Amino acid sequence: MEKFKHFISYGRQTIDDEDVQLVIDTLRSPNLTQGPKILEFEQAVANYVGAKYAVAFCNGTAALHGACYAAGIGEGDEVITSPITFAASANCVRYVGGTVVFADIDSQTYNIDSVQVRANITDKTKAIIPVDFTGQPADMDEIMAIAKEHNLVVIEDGAQSFGSIYKGQKVGIQADMTMFSFHPVKPITTAEGGVIVTNSEEYYKKLMKFRSHGIEQTAYALEQGGWYYEMTDLGYNYRMTDLQAALGISQMSKLDAFLHKRKEIASIYTEALKDVNGIRVPFQLEGAESGWHLYMVQLEHANRKQVFEAMRVANIGVHVHYLPVYWHPYYQQLGYERGLCPVAEKWYEKALTLPIHPGLTDEEINYVINKLLSLI
Ligand SMILES: *Cc1c(COP(=O)(O)O)cnc(C)c1O
Repeated sequence: MEKFKHFISYGRQTIDDEDVQLVIDTLRSPNLTQGPKILEFEQAVANYVGAKYAVAFCNGTAALHGACYAAGIGEGDEVITSPITFAASANCVRYVGGTVVFADIDSQTYNIDSVQVRANITDKTKAIIPVDFTGQPADMDEIMAIAKEHNLVVIEDGAQSFGSIYKGQKVGIQADMTMFSFHPVKPITTAEGGVIVTNSEEYYKKLMKFRSHGIEQTAYALEQGGWYYEMTDLGYNYRMTDLQAALGISQMSKLDAFLHKRKEIASIYTEALKDVNGIRVPFQLEGAESGWHLYMVQLEHANRKQVFEAMRVANIGVHVHYLPVYWHPYYQQLGYERGLCPVAEKWYEKALTLPIHPGLTDEEINYVINKLLSLI
């Protein structure tokens, strides 16, 4: 069977000589961790989205854990999130002892449906974690309005939406806290890495403390002497290194070019597939601009498993993002049942992710399109 000369992955990093050099320079500098690159990277991220504070973490999952801690989520609290996301969006609630409530998705945007969010609010609800799935911003105006009405904290999982735009502004300033991930498949990379951006000084201080063992500089400690510090709560070592931050600083300067390229690829796919019977191309929310972390189609009639396998045999790294989180055995054991979010489940059965990343060539893109068309 005919196949492409190499494997075309669904997503991957784009690294150039400048990235490599900055990491090498940092490797030769006095600080491999806890040095100046962290703050420099945090400021670059905060400036980019227009937030007051950014706190870097060793990965996006740790950053979400920090946000749940800062929001004061604990035992007995309910947190509403989407079932169509990477498991970490829900797991972070479990880390702090909270209960995850899955609200169904909107059948067009595939993001959490605000009507379903509202329907799931109880007197135990403490927070909402909307996810900007595929890079498309969630319905943030409505979610923030619900949160205000019920006095809830909103932690936006923007792991896939760094650089995306919501109503003329960058994602990252709408929610109380927003997480971005810098895993290699995400809009920019630090190998592993994540960040929380916020405008709240209170959250900022809690996040700083949490990522470094729960240690803070208290007034009492300052009085005792320069060696004295106090651990006031149980924190973690969730710090990013200077090597990662150096890579992040270099990658920041390319983010807009990466996003431009992703948008171009998305429009090539959409143009080629939008009128094809049996393929539904991604719907775009009015007033929002996706960063196109993922490009996903719905296969309306075809057998998804057969198409998936034939594409893989042809060396095309198609994927499926994601099975509903509560289908995982861990959540099943907690008592979540299949059928809980019917829109999400129906959507999942037909979903297929096509490769998209800034390094894709025209030859690869055309190959993907032609192969898909031949299978439909
Ligand atoms: C990637 C991702 C995460 C986790 O980020 P890591 O940096 O890999 O820990 C969380 N949520 C979503 C939606 C993601 O895509």
